[in-house]
Amino acid sequence: MSALDERIAALPVQSGVYIFKDAEARVLYVGKAQSLRARVRSYFNRGGDGRHQVPFLIARVADVEVVATANVKEALLLENALIKKHKPRFNVRLRDDKNYLALRLDPREAHPRLTETRRFARDGALYFGPYTSSTSLRETLGSLQRIFPLRTCADPVFKSYRRQGRPCLEHAVGRCAAPCCGLISDEAYCDLVAGATLLLRGKASDLLGELRARMSEASAEERYEDAARLRDRVRAIERTVESQAMVSRKFVDRDVFGLARDGPRLEFQVLHARQGKMAGGNSYAFRDVAGDDAEALGSFLSQFYATEREIPREVLLPVALEPELAKAFSELLRERAGHAVDLAVPRRGERRRMLELAARNAELALAERGRREQNSAAVLESLREAVRMDRLPAQIECYDISHLQGTLGVASRVVFADALPHKDGYRRYRLRETDPGDDYGAMREVLRRRLEKLDKEPPPDLLLLDGGKGQLNAARALFADLGVEGIALASLAKERDDESGSARVLRHGGQKREKLFLPGVKDPVMLPADSPALLLLQRIRDESHRFAITYHRELRKKSNFRSILDELPGIGPVKRRALLRTLGSLEKVRAASLAELEAVPKLSKADAALIHRFFQSAEATPAAEPDSDLPVKNDSSAADGSDNANPD
Ligand code: SF4
Repeated sequence: MSALDERIAALPVQSGVYIFKDAEARVLYVGKAQSLRARVRSYFNRGGDGRHQVPFLIARVADVEVVATANVKEALLLENALIKKHKPRFNVRLRDDKNYLALRLDPREAHPRLTETRRFARDGALYFGPYTSSTSLRETLGSLQRIFPLRTCADPVFKSYRRQGRPCLEHAVGRCAAPCCGLISDEAYCDLVAGATLLLRGKASDLLGELRARMSEASAEERYEDAARLRDRVRAIERTVESQAMVSRKFVDRDVFGLARDGPRLEFQVLHARQGKMAGGNSYAFRDVAGDDAEALGSFLSQFYATEREIPREVLLPVALEPELAKAFSELLRERAGHAVDLAVPRRGERRRMLELAARNAELALAERGRREQNSAAVLESLREAVRMDRLPAQIECYDISHLQGTLGVASRVVFADALPHKDGYRRYRLRETDPGDDYGAMREVLRRRLEKLDKEPPPDLLLLDGGKGQLNAARALFADLGVEGIALASLAKERDDESGSARVLRHGGQKREKLFLPGVKDPVMLPADSPALLLLQRIRDESHRFAITYHRELRKKSNFRSILDELPGIGPVKRRALLRTLGSLEKVRAASLAELEAVPKLSKADAALIHRFFQSAEATPAAEPDSDLPVKNDSSAADGSDNANPD
């Protein structure tokens, strides 16, 4: 009996969480079980238990740890926390779900307004949604605002216009009734809020009934202007309601889950129906999923509803969860939602049809993803050959060093997974140890900081550097120093002007050629301009440039010259104070001539030259935030081309 077998035989027969680890103590999989021993043993039964990927997982398992819990509910919560912490490769792992979008209205405010939110909190406010995209949310908001012109401004703006006694442009374009300066009574504004709430709640027929009654009343009392205004509102609501698809005759709120699987690849589709109408949906893809469908679904659901999102009264599932787990999960949902939640696997009727719709959407999303992956596989194969690797470069990291006027060195990292940007992995670095202008040293510094985190972030298959042989050699030396093996290296540089020559540039369609440097290969590899491998490498390198430039631009926007001065080497608080005292303002420091700067007490000629050079540069941008490996901050999803936040 092996040590692992003995360990399994001694596991407790009670609920808890088990953790599979590999020989380097990396967490491969986290699961929960009602009986730890039976569940863990099922993985090691000869012939397996039919779960996808289990043989791949089991072949790597060197150790198993367990944490016993008082009940399945505790196990569910602990499993969730451990998946979040360890990010195991073989688990269904929901990254920060940035797709959740809703509208929020706080009825306790004197003049409530609708705002966008990505969080649902039980804070007394009303939440409407979810919406599939910001476009759909803004469309709803746009048409709603025309019917119910609630204020759109934040409190400080509201107060400012109130002080001025005049409304802003929103009023002129008919999007706000201008409560800021009393152009609508509080009572009428309350009416607008009530109408918007009813419409967003899907109670359009109640609302229409009420408005029509008021219209007749106004007409009977010969208040024709009021009657016309109400008629326009009724028509606008009718138009809005017609455009919404009804999916249920019952006005219930439901989340409907579809599942499609192709071996270890799994796709979940979630459809949100609110008040019987389709509010939207999202799909979530996973690869290397070790558990069976019910297990994967259970894990997905507990992560899905662990985030701050609205929990509907009905949750429809494509497969039944284990009875104990279903019970524990229902209980958890009830506690979080503050109302009962019906967890059902309907077999017939309208609810079954919705499940089938969700399943169909999941299948389509999975097939589409499969097609994209096939294309990616062909490109990766071409790259594998070009960089002479023995496995596909599925995970690629690219590093770019950038400094501003010889100061403020920064570096960016972009990650491509299966030939596509993986924005969760993007990072930016402030260089701390390298002299400005020392490109090789800078590359060495940033790579060292990356390689020191190999235990937390798995290594890429290929590390691509923006640069030539010097950068490549700096990385090779570092690999040797740190004893790093198993990561392929390459660097990509454009031909220099003196190398390319105008005739050659013309021969290549006006483009400079790219030189690909590989370790141990004396001359650069010159791939054909239309080679899929080169096109991918260029795309990755250009993405890292784009990322760095976007970063600079963002920083320039929130330009704060004090922070720039803070960042300039050798310009400490005493010199900063002297600058401001002598020149008066940060703007004036920026505009100062070299002579004016040299005249500032406490500044040396070198300091003055540094400051002058910095501000005179058209590209001058302030420094990064004051720390090192910065995940990208952005709320948008990767699909719209923006940079995702990192979940760490
Ligand atoms: S008109 Fe007044 S209340 Fe309306 S958005 Fe403008 S400032 Fe705000």
